[in-house]
Amino acid sequence: MSLVDRSPEDFASHLRSLGVRRAYLVHNHGTGQIDVSHPELAPLAAWMQTDNRDYRKHAGVFLQVNQSGGLFGAFVQATTRGQGQGGLRHWPYPTLSAFLRDGLRLATGMARKNALAGLWWGGGKGIVARLPGDAYRDPVQRAALYREYAEFVTSLRGCYITAEDAGTGPDDMAVVHGGTRFVTCIPPAIGGSGNPSPATARGVVCAMEGALAHLGLGTLEGKKIAMQGAGNVAGHMIAELLTRGVGGIVASELSPERRAELAQQFAGAALTLLPAKPGDNSILATPCDILAPNALGGILSPETIPTLRTRIVCGAANNQLLDEDRDAKALGALGIVYIPDYLCNRMGIVNCANEQYGHIPGDPAIERHLGREWDNSVFVITRRVLELAEREGITTAAAANRLADELAQVPHPIWGDRTRGIIAGLVASRWHLS
Ligand code: NAD
Repeated sequence: MSLVDRSPEDFASHLRSLGVRRAYLVHNHGTGQIDVSHPELAPLAAWMQTDNRDYRKHAGVFLQVNQSGGLFGAFVQATTRGQGQGGLRHWPYPTLSAFLRDGLRLATGMARKNALAGLWWGGGKGIVARLPGDAYRDPVQRAALYREYAEFVTSLRGCYITAEDAGTGPDDMAVVHGGTRFVTCIPPAIGGSGNPSPATARGVVCAMEGALAHLGLGTLEGKKIAMQGAGNVAGHMIAELLTRGVGGIVASELSPERRAELAQQFAGAALTLLPAKPGDNSILATPCDILAPNALGGILSPETIPTLRTRIVCGAANNQLLDEDRDAKALGALGIVYIPDYLCNRMGIVNCANEQYGHIPGDPAIERHLGREWDNSVFVITRRVLELAEREGITTAAAANRLADELAQVPHPIWGDRTRGIIAGLVASRWHLS
């Protein structure tokens, strides 16, 4: 069986049998090839290099076998703007290829989100491959695992900055913070920025306004909005939309408790809450002006797209398109304007990106993203992406990627591409043997 078809834990035990604890695959800027820490990883490098979908000359992929026999990963892409930053995912993966693909894809996604948001960060992603069984729920074992992950992040000397993501939460980040300074989006009790959901919701609403303005459809007043999922972000989004005088909101939500909570909070408002079951996508077919996917990713597919009855798709959920190119084209062909998720949900990361610089009430560094004057605000960038897509006859997803990839090439104004130097230093000092 080839290496990439093994499970992450099988691969980890293979590394152990070779006496390997740490390993890397690093982009060589001279040869354009991938340098590996151990000759046994050459097949992985060859596999990555032939992958046109998720591999984009990533600066580095760092792996560590952990004490529980599982695998840690840190993925860094596009470091010109700064250190690779992106959340830590604790998730089960059937194969090493699924683990690597997810890390590579998500690190690129973060490089684009950070660049398009004007943040001085490159792209990064952390992964803890979840082991079979329930041990990951045990608080004591979890804390031990995150302490070890923190040590791994520290060893990378700041080329990767971690944060929370799917499968990790603020409590886990507090543990990580106990072992490394290279973490952000930490709890307010230790100086972090707190719940990003209100800011995320406001950002999505600004993108909705940008899309309406682009289409010449006026403001949100009187518009009908449909939402899938009425969780943290959606709750704040409903409040924002109601203050802007929308004509009505229909939101589906799995949790009866959450529906009851919102029904009470918004009693008398133009809000209809519908029940839903896992995997239920019927809400997407609601006739509306704007559809906001606010639950899970992968919901825009050949199965659901033909059912849509909206002019605009603009919501907080990550990775809404099941297949980015195919599904963005399908939406475009139906005349539906799709706002790339990483453009409209940027405020989650913007909210915590610069928390080490301290807090100011009504922080201008955050608020400018939500206005219309700053050249890089959500509203302005939304219009720019839609104009570019129209002018070039490309999808809105391709237009956002093009703008983001250009911005990702702009060097950090103070530090330049220091992260390249950090990675070169890791290689030179034989990090893999440390
Ligand atoms: P959340 O878990 O609070 O809300 C999601 C809600 O969707 C839950 O209440 C869940 O019950 C519901 N749901 C799941 N499947 C559903 C279905 N099929 N039909 C109807 N309801 C369904 O999460 P959140 O923090 O509000 O984030 C929402 C999305 O936005 C996620 O994809 C998240 O990754 C993304 N996002 C969030 C932030 C943030 O600041 N919280 C930032 C960027 C992106």
